[in-house]
Amino acid sequence: MGKDAQPYVYIRDEEHAWVPARQLSNDGKKATVAVQKYKSEDEMMANASSTSGTKVEQKTIDLKTYPGGNLPMQNVDDGGKLGNHEDMVNLPYLHEAAILYNIKIRHNKALPYTRTGDLVVAVNPYQWIESLYTMEKRKLYAKKLVWENSETDPREHLAPHVYETSALCYKGMAFDGINQSILVSGESGAGKTETVKICMNHIASVQEGPSSAMAEMSPVVKRILDSNPLLEAFGNAKTRRNDNSSRFGKYLQLQFDGAGGVGRSVANLAGSKAEVFLLEKNRVCKHDDWERTYHIFYQLVAAPDSDKAGIWDSLKGTNNDSFKYVGKCEPMKFDGMTDAEHYLNTTKVLKFVGLSDSDVKKFYNAICVVLQLGNVTFGAAGGDADKSAVTSAGELSKLASLMGLAEPEITLALTERTMKTRDECYKVPLGPAVAKDSADALAKEVYGKIFLWVVKAINVRTSAEANYPGDAPGKKYGIIGLLDIFGFESFGVNRFEQLCINYANEKLQQKFTEDIFKAVMDEYKYEGIPLQDIKFDDNTDVLDLVESRTGLCALLNEECVRPKGSGEGFVNKVLAAHKKSPCLVPHKTDRLSFGVVHYAGLVYYEASGFVESNKDTLPTDLEDAATKCSNSIIADAFTFEKYAAAAGGTKGKPKRQKSNLMAPTVWTKYKTQLSSLMTSLYATQSKYIRCIKPNTVKKPLIMEHKTSVEQLRYAGIVAGVTISRSAFPNRLANSVVFSRYNSMWDKDKYPSKKSGGMSMPELVKADCEAVMECALKEKETKNKDGKMIKAFVCGKTK
Ligand code: ADP
Ligand code: MG
Repeated sequence: MGKDAQPYVYIRDEEHAWVPARQLSNDGKKATVAVQKYKSEDEMMANASSTSGTKVEQKTIDLKTYPGGNLPMQNVDDGGKLGNHEDMVNLPYLHEAAILYNIKIRHNKALPYTRTGDLVVAVNPYQWIESLYTMEKRKLYAKKLVWENSETDPREHLAPHVYETSALCYKGMAFDGINQSILVSGESGAGKTETVKICMNHIASVQEGPSSAMAEMSPVVKRILDSNPLLEAFGNAKTRRNDNSSRFGKYLQLQFDGAGGVGRSVANLAGSKAEVFLLEKNRVCKHDDWERTYHIFYQLVAAPDSDKAGIWDSLKGTNNDSFKYVGKCEPMKFDGMTDAEHYLNTTKVLKFVGLSDSDVKKFYNAICVVLQLGNVTFGAAGGDADKSAVTSAGELSKLASLMGLAEPEITLALTERTMKTRDECYKVPLGPAVAKDSADALAKEVYGKIFLWVVKAINVRTSAEANYPGDAPGKKYGIIGLLDIFGFESFGVNRFEQLCINYANEKLQQKFTEDIFKAVMDEYKYEGIPLQDIKFDDNTDVLDLVESRTGLCALLNEECVRPKGSGEGFVNKVLAAHKKSPCLVPHKTDRLSFGVVHYAGLVYYEASGFVESNKDTLPTDLEDAATKCSNSIIADAFTFEKYAAAAGGTKGKPKRQKSNLMAPTVWTKYKTQLSSLMTSLYATQSKYIRCIKPNTVKKPLIMEHKTSVEQLRYAGIVAGVTISRSAFPNRLANSVVFSRYNSMWDKDKYPSKKSGGMSMPELVKADCEAVMECALKEKETKNKDGKMIKAFVCGKTK
């Protein structure tokens, strides 16, 4: 709309992703722009749309490299000042740079939350902004969004907040009887877990009703909130990115009684159930110098000796250095507590979720088995590098007595492996490195099982079924699900774990896309604009590549049953089977790598460890040793699995198929779990919160452009926005168009189609249409497929 002589635009920048500029000329192929040189991104921010400074530089830009051959426009007001919008749907120009600058301005003003329709973008403020979370704020969102009836969208009078997500979920569940879910995603340290906690606390207080003082928390609610630190003790660890990083995915379902007006009129929180995914088991044995293993190990080592005596006598007098898996680490605090203080809290909560004193001891004793497994060392036996012997007799004897096994028994399990053929059974010795891996594998497996055991123990105590045993069996509760799951990952080296994580993100992105598309259709319907030309990219192609019958994962499972299955063999098969897939990219030089074009971008995976990572089965020798362990938590966990596998194997007609020879792979288990999660989510109405980590120094008020833009892409925000704008990308209120451009209105040429009996919005629309005819030079424009479509349409209000 050629109003500005020198339009305010953004240009790409290697260092800062996008920088503001003034466009001086544009011949359709090249543009000349004036860019000011700034010392920092913050200075750039303060002067975003000014070019009055002294250090102005002129640049020539090749427009071919910009979408649609145009430079993206800044959202400046009539005075040329860059503003911000609470709802990005209202940004006149909506693209990556506009989104970045919009959230950045808000972040600078300590406004972490921004809407995009029903989605909330939450930028980690790295400072607790007390005023955002007061009791008044909680009540305000509950009152306006849950308890009051409003003709118009009640959010119009409320600043964006995750309380709006929690309140609307509560309302949908309690009053409309529709189960809800809140899907929170973002990279490590972006604030997912905090956000889930904030939402959960809010939901728990919303139900207190419109007028209550929200003083007394019901014991059920308290139990649910209190069980959270327990999961954190076992599944969280300090990483470079986050001092309290969750190393597992979690779907927490809050169960409500009386949802949808059934029973009591207000839905009451009756219980909760957690499901967990993909605990990072490797962290049990290895972590880099800056990081730590799981909190619980440090807590246990920091326990008072009087407690240690009851758990395992040899634990007395130990410190972090006593255990290899724990290793050296600086004393640290999180949530304001030391490890020793956390120990007391964890113990308290374990009892609170229903463990007896002796159960708590047994449980900690099981964790000691993991710790002690790390201390056993191996060396070559009798000078033979293919055989190993334990080189730390003292540590071995401690382990043996801790597990209630004879020393030779545990030694054999660790240093030899039983091989079975059809007719015979024999043992092969293991070299020192393999023996060490065996000990690590057992430790990881034991810890993984302990973790699941804790989750189960919590569920048994917090679920609605447990809280209200009098309820009819199979009673349906209203559900609000909270998903706290690792976001899309792309590192220097990406392994099997990244593929699993990114696959989950593709699944979630698919649902997100479908949901946005529905919202767009609703908007067009409201505006009375026919929706025919809208086309959007979905991610079915990638999902097919990964999960179809001949997809990456099926091929990997096949490779895992081949006697000599390898990463290279897998990559070859993948490349041969998917030559035509637009989503698969061969690596130019590395035969062990392949690239996948995800919705968030291209990721190369390093397949060398894929086969091993997918197998993840414990040799029978170790499994047998674990089932004989005197600690019944460990013995029972392993025994149960053995029987379950045996029972599954003999059920029905015995089939001579490859898959029957093999225990379910990591992939198979994960896929089953994920599809059950997706089924649960599809049965709910989802609301989305996208967390953004604004900087890597974990400090307030700083926003690094490049990493933030990347996250916006990974979060699917840019893709989502593209969909919602794929028909008509820019939208302005009819009234704004009129006031801005009515000076260009040639009333003789385009008289208004105003008529008597029209409502106010209809009158504005009629004038606006006439103004647009005059203001727009080109009445038609090419859409993405090169088809000519109308350049503008006037809807009911926009
Ligand atoms: P994630 O779960 O995404 O890895 P966390 O939720 O653990 O990240 O957040 C990491 C850290 O960021 C927290 O420990 C806290 O210091 C800070 N943080 C996150 N969200 C907020 C918030 N809303 N207000 C203040 N600080 C926050
Ligand atoms: Mg977390």
